[in-house]
Amino acid sequence: ETEKPPMEEITANDVFIAVKTTKKFHQSRLELLLDTWISRNLQQTYIFTDGEDEGLKSRIGSHAINTNCSAAHSRQALSCKMAVEYDKFIESGKKWFCHVDDDNYVNVRTLVKLLSNYPHTQDVYIGKPSLDRPIEATERLGDNKMRPVHFWFATGGAGFCISRGLALKMSPWASGGHFMNTAEKIRLPDDCTIGYIIESVLGVKLIRSNLFHSHLENLQQVSKSEIQNQVTLSYGMFENKRNAINMKGAFTVEEDPSRFKSVHCLLYPDTPWCPPQVTF
Ligand code: UDP
Ligand code: MN
Repeated sequence: ETEKPPMEEITANDVFIAVKTTKKFHQSRLELLLDTWISRNLQQTYIFTDGEDEGLKSRIGSHAINTNCSAAHSRQALSCKMAVEYDKFIESGKKWFCHVDDDNYVNVRTLVKLLSNYPHTQDVYIGKPSLDRPIEATERLGDNKMRPVHFWFATGGAGFCISRGLALKMSPWASGGHFMNTAEKIRLPDDCTIGYIIESVLGVKLIRSNLFHSHLENLQQVSKSEIQNQVTLSYGMFENKRNAINMKGAFTVEEDPSRFKSVHCLLYPDTPWCPPQVTF
């Protein structure tokens, strides 16, 4: 029996948070994140996009990264962005890599608490699987040879994290131009490619966490009393209906359809635009 390593004291500055976005969402999605959770976590957050935006640059400077990847929603364009996220993380020297989409709210306090349970030097891949079984894919081996593979992956739309120890092992398949080549071998989206490298190639298992949330799930099911304990939240549409967490908060659903502003006021009540706190 091996002993559980002690908790590792980390701070938000040990975490590299990559937010994937695209120019057409700078106003409609990114603005909301910049006004809420990113405003409190500028030092650890990097925005990966596909077009120049002077307004964005003046707001966050070098933390706005133009990947020069295509702005298309193609598998190649998305893998291109993930490859740049990976390379920038390695360059940063930070202990943890976390990826989120531009429709995620990140509670950085709970994220840091969660990651503190794992040593960053070990192999850690943590997130929420989007399927209830491993994905089945075909690996192209060259010489027209193919091989069926199956593996679990964390859905990118809920956010996931990778320890530096594991990220370094991924390098032959993920660094420089290798990520794009690896993605082409299995012809699946970027988040599946991450799962393929980690589970299938390196043999490391995904750690499931229910604290990550994408809009693929029914977000109404996140318990009201547990909202402040979640690591990520999301919002979106499901079967033509608004899918968001259900909470009573500082703003009405009309003012704040994603509920992110209300969540933010719950977590950071001293925010100037949050309604004054009632104290007794
Ligand atoms: N995205 C992108 N390029 C595109 C379309 C989307 O980089 O052409 C990003 C988007 O900003 C988001 C992620 O991909 O971070 C997922 O996009 P979306 O939420 O629109 O789709 P879904 O969650 O349904 O996959
Ligand atoms: Mn989405």
